[in-house]
Amino acid sequence: MPQRGDARYDMLAGGRHTCGGSCWARPFVESLGPVMPSRESGEKKAVEDYRIMVLGGDGVGPEVTAEAARALRVVAKRFGHTFRFEEALVGQDAIAQEGAAISPKTLERCARCDAILFGAVGGTTMGSPESKTQPENSLYQLRRDFVLFANLRPIRVFPALAGASTLKRDVVRGVDFVVIRELTGGLYYGRPSETRGESPARQAVDTMAYSEAEIERVVRFAFELARARNKSLTSVDKANVLSCSRLWRDVAERVGRDYPDVHLQHLLVDNCAMNLVKRPKDFDVLVMANMFGDILTDEASMLSGSMGMLPSASLGERVTAHGRFGLYEPVHGSAPRIAGQGKANPLAAILSAALLLRHSLSLAEEALAVERAVERVIAAGYRTYDIQTANTRLVNTSEMGEQVERALLESDSPAGSRRAGKKAPAGTAR
Ligand code: NAD
Repeated sequence: MPQRGDARYDMLAGGRHTCGGSCWARPFVESLGPVMPSRESGEKKAVEDYRIMVLGGDGVGPEVTAEAARALRVVAKRFGHTFRFEEALVGQDAIAQEGAAISPKTLERCARCDAILFGAVGGTTMGSPESKTQPENSLYQLRRDFVLFANLRPIRVFPALAGASTLKRDVVRGVDFVVIRELTGGLYYGRPSETRGESPARQAVDTMAYSEAEIERVVRFAFELARARNKSLTSVDKANVLSCSRLWRDVAERVGRDYPDVHLQHLLVDNCAMNLVKRPKDFDVLVMANMFGDILTDEASMLSGSMGMLPSASLGERVTAHGRFGLYEPVHGSAPRIAGQGKANPLAAILSAALLLRHSLSLAEEALAVERAVERVIAAGYRTYDIQTANTRLVNTSEMGEQVERALLESDSPAGSRRAGKKAPAGTAR
């Protein structure tokens, strides 16, 4: 792993950071430096031609990914890049037209891209994720096929949105932590997973299984991240009941011996659920098994006001000529009840696009420009209905995307600000 001061670290962490320590994105940018680099030090990008697969999916998915793609197009124009967008079906339309939630051909096309911008999948009825006819199967397959084992979910509260949370302002103001959810193992992938017998005597079984190797790679990832932030890692488990959790705790302790500078604490998942709403500011980096992360990050989304504000990056070990291959999606689902009404908040998808720029394309300044544009739009009072409060301006999905576009076009580029010795715009101050 690269260390502070060497070229690989600097390229992705502090070396590219230019806003003088005041912007929303800063600590997260710096904190992810050490775990993200993929190109060798000094290696030039092979071709400045980036390929992005856009998989809009179901419900509000296509609506929010359209706005994220718009932000990427503006970035390409402003910074002089060529982004080649590809599109394919996933979810319900893919099932109807191609016979599977994601076709083998689409998977092949994804493999030729640098990153995937994903919307959401899922309808109004639930079924077995294992079944090929379930829209959610596309996501499980992408995660499994590309071994995207680490799911990063930054939870930060924009200062101007502290009042949008259902919790008290004092509790949420200043919240800034990252959840790393294990993504390719545990209860969602264990076999058997089935219903047996005949009604009324049916029985259902799901299996939670983790190998030491699966736990170690994601815990190590979390330690690297914690080391670059505030050197505090909370490992979440249910070791008082589950064998998997006892193994998880044991491996976390062993890996922790390689990180004596990072304080490791263990927290039972039920206790963690309570403390996320009681004292969320005390957390910095948390790592947890698949299902625990799924549930706790929905809870944590309420700190920031809405599911529509939370981006995510799913990363593995695969690298491309430009960075680390990844899948980027808002944490929320397809929200079928508000689909097609212009009500969906596109900011989680747009912030996911910023993560894509940073991690898969190694374009940290461009990522920062997007994050700062979002912060300016929020500071200027624009709100979709999910985060609307008194004295703010209600906008629909595409109007919010337009505002981000405008803010991106109007703001100085971070590089330009640095050259001119300018300070970050007031709207970005924390
Ligand atoms: P959901 O995330 O779709 O919606 C939860 C709540 O948040 C709803 O009230 C919804 O209106 C609101 N919401 C979600 N996104 C929003 C946005 N961008 N702007 C404003 N409000 C937003 O979760 P759900 O209702 O439990 O699930 C709906 C479907 O989505 C299901 O089929 C589920 O399986 C699927 N799902 C998919 C993903 C994914 O694709 N990654 C994740 C979770 C759920």
